[in-house]
Amino acid sequence: MKEAARQARAENRIVGLVPTMGALHAGHLSLIERARRECSPVIASIFVNPKQFGPNEDFSKYPRTFESDSGKLERAGVDSLFVPEPAEIYPNAFSTYVNVDGLSDRLEGRTRPGHFDGLSDRLEGRTRPGHFRGVTTVVMKLLQIVQPNFAYFGRKDAQQSRLITLMARDLNLDTEIVVCPPVREPDGLALSSRNIYLNSEERQAATVLHHALEAARRELVAGVRDALQLQAVLQRTLSGERLARVDYAEIVDADSFEPVVRVSKRCYVLLAVFIGKTRLIDNLYVEPKSSESEELFFHF
Ligand code: AMP
Repeated sequence: MKEAARQARAENRIVGLVPTMGALHAGHLSLIERARRECSPVIASIFVNPKQFGPNEDFSKYPRTFESDSGKLERAGVDSLFVPEPAEIYPNAFSTYVNVDGLSDRLEGRTRPGHFDGLSDRLEGRTRPGHFRGVTTVVMKLLQIVQPNFAYFGRKDAQQSRLITLMARDLNLDTEIVVCPPVREPDGLALSSRNIYLNSEERQAATVLHHALEAARRELVAGVRDALQLQAVLQRTLSGERLARVDYAEIVDADSFEPVVRVSKRCYVLLAVFIGKTRLIDNLYVEPKSSESEELFFHF
């Protein structure tokens, strides 16, 4: 893979990378499509990264559908597919990890380093300890192997995209990180490889995430800016669904992912909700139309 990518760069071609864990759906393919508009060659990777799964998570049962994935990628016009083995990515005595702390200025200089709630430790990182360390480590490795000009990620995983963007900037990578909008089912459910775990009753119930985000949007359009009030609306909508158990429902600053008191700058409404045993995430990205105006743009 290194040799092929090096060759493309030597020919002054624009190399694009789309990292995935396979079980591909239209969300992944939208990243490929975007990459194809901006790059040639487009390289996709499939690697179910053991280091980003917790001990009680679904690593062993994560869907692996290589035959169908490679067909989809070929039809989508991907030039190369990189499918490394875990032992190639993590040889014996693998010892080096990338961790994005996201230590905010407010916390800089605290006397007990390690006792802050860094960007990787909150929200997704709180429920899934070590998850983001696994993600940023494997993404760093993929970016080192391919050294693409552009790498494409989905905003469905908003905190992940933010961490990867920060990592690329902080470590002076020559790759530009491109974050793309989520692709949804017609009823609003964000596409996810984990949606296949849902039975038909749960699949129906899973629309509650999108309904909750819609309810928050309606409040914001009506002029509500208070985060607690918005959270209450999220909780009320989610608690109306018997199969849903909320992990978190928060309104956070789009850069720091710290909770906001009022919606006044760019922010995310973030949801993580168990539907039965399946944990789903979704978000609504909100940005002011201009610095003077109270009006907002909404991005589902
Ligand atoms: P995964 O295979 O789940 O690791 O996802 C690979 C990439 O696809 C990540 O950058 C995800 O954020 C992105 N992705 C996942 N779901 C969607 C979606 N519904 N729409 C757009 N991108 C997505």
